[in-house]
Amino acid sequence: MALIVQKYGGSSVSDAESIKRVAKRIAESRRAGNDVVVVVSAMGDTTDELIDLARQITPLPPQREMDILLTAGERISMSLLAMAITKLGVRAKSFTGQQAGLITDAVHGKARIVDVVPHRIRETIERGQVAIVAGFQGVTESNDVTTLGRGGSDTTAVALAAGLDADVCEIYTDVDGIFTADPRIVPTARKVDRITYEEMLEMAASGAKVLALRCVEYGRRYGVPIHVRSSFSGKEGTLVTRNPEEAADTMEAPIISGVAHDRSEAKITVVGVPDVPGTAARIFEVVAASGVNIDMIVQNISAAKTGRTDISFTLPEGDGPAGMAALSGIQAEIGFDSLQFDDQIGKLSLVGAGMKSHPGVSAKLFGALRDAGINIEMISTSEIRISVVTRADSLDDAVRAVHTAFELDTEAEAVVYAGTGR
Ligand code: ASP
Ligand code: MG
Repeated sequence: MALIVQKYGGSSVSDAESIKRVAKRIAESRRAGNDVVVVVSAMGDTTDELIDLARQITPLPPQREMDILLTAGERISMSLLAMAITKLGVRAKSFTGQQAGLITDAVHGKARIVDVVPHRIRETIERGQVAIVAGFQGVTESNDVTTLGRGGSDTTAVALAAGLDADVCEIYTDVDGIFTADPRIVPTARKVDRITYEEMLEMAASGAKVLALRCVEYGRRYGVPIHVRSSFSGKEGTLVTRNPEEAADTMEAPIISGVAHDRSEAKITVVGVPDVPGTAARIFEVVAASGVNIDMIVQNISAAKTGRTDISFTLPEGDGPAGMAALSGIQAEIGFDSLQFDDQIGKLSLVGAGMKSHPGVSAKLFGALRDAGINIEMISTSEIRISVVTRADSLDDAVRAVHTAFELDTEAEAVVYAGTGR
């Protein structure tokens, strides 16, 4: 008998009918003899709607209140799901993050899990009941309710799976697994059977929405096998595994595991920075102090005549105003000419553990973009990833061109059962 943690995303529980459908799946797993713990997201677009509602009240809602508001979304779905399962004759009980023992730090809106003490969940499964847990939320040591950041229910699920020492964490979503590209953009994307935590981390960090980044980090740290699959079909999905050798044994290790894209970033350019020691340090000090996380950085060589250079970096679009304000504050001190803000950028990332040992991957990537007539504005790399920034409106074409160039297309069209992929 296995202990399974199952997570159902918002598009799998968007209305009463879907909740009943998911309840059936859960009841079947339980009747097959498994211990089942379920983590559930808010129904459909509830979280977005609640954020909208708060903004209609005030543009800058207090973050503590925001967290209490948003956790309501998952409370609705968890209780309805418990009712639906009970109606099928399987005993089930729902719990908030707090009741489930998810202890977090006090950073409202993006709290980190610091401990998992799932006594009540253990008791519940020991009594033969299904435990339903509200995703995306926890409680601080001083009893304030927190949320884990958008997409955080994935992290709840993996953290609980680690805390309960579950056999597997199944993430149910609206596509059949992890694909070589977002099937909404590349219908001929191929489902991958296995992927390593490292590759999945790069994909998630590069904008792939199918798993939250922190959930993958957590899974890697605690060695939780994560099975990403569809709640709309019975197909095997994608297994995210610890051991690259293990993954390599069971398949012809592919060079490239996928093409991710991200539309959520913006670019700031500091124009005419005096090319003297210390200016970059100063620029990124103030940006960091404003709480902004930066991603790519490019510095041009300085013009010989003027001794000045341009520094560009990317950051989450929403952090743009904070980053610009911080930099404006040091314009006189550093003596740069001006600032430019550009939110019309897109980022494409090619990810694959095999690129470490195969030459020519970047040449092929750049060649594919050239043939598609797409201009590259920035480039950055890690051991197993190459990212490029393009114009936002050519991003979809770029993804398709690169996907094809690396021969990742398959005949069968990928099925998108529901949702928008966010
Ligand atoms: N409901 C939250 C969100 O929409 C958490 C989640 O779905 O994982 O981001
Ligand atoms: Mg999600």
